[in-house]
Amino acid sequence: MEQSQLVQEKIQIYLCEKENMLFSNKEDWHEKDCGCNAKLHTETHEGLKLEWSNGSEWGKIHHESLGEVMTYWHKGTPCYYTYTAPVVDSEGYIYCYRFDHDEGYWDEDIVDLGLYNGIDTCKFG
Ligand SMILES: [Zn+2]
Repeated sequence: MEQSQLVQEKIQIYLCEKENMLFSNKEDWHEKDCGCNAKLHTETHEGLKLEWSNGSEWGKIHHESLGEVMTYWHKGTPCYYTYTAPVVDSEGYIYCYRFDHDEGYWDEDIVDLGLYNGIDTCKFG
């Protein structure tokens, strides 16, 4: 049986040439009267999973709402924290969760990695 794929709304990421900043069509900070010719930079969708370009698998940890998830860390650095794979949210921003190995629990706050820029990897450091 084939798994039905969820059809997801595309998120458009534009480049404001005036501010030289990316913004998504889901947010409203970019003034309509900015006057720039906002150019379509890339497209993405909620839930797109990215990779850590310089991350190594640390191991799976149980997360309350995600279940068993692989976490990653920057190999060669002290392993105080490990991070889940980066994911695109409903507004086009990339986030991940961080596990605190000193305390032994997940941070309450998600880690904001900025707006998706068309590159499917994130980098530690
Ligand atoms: Zn603009």
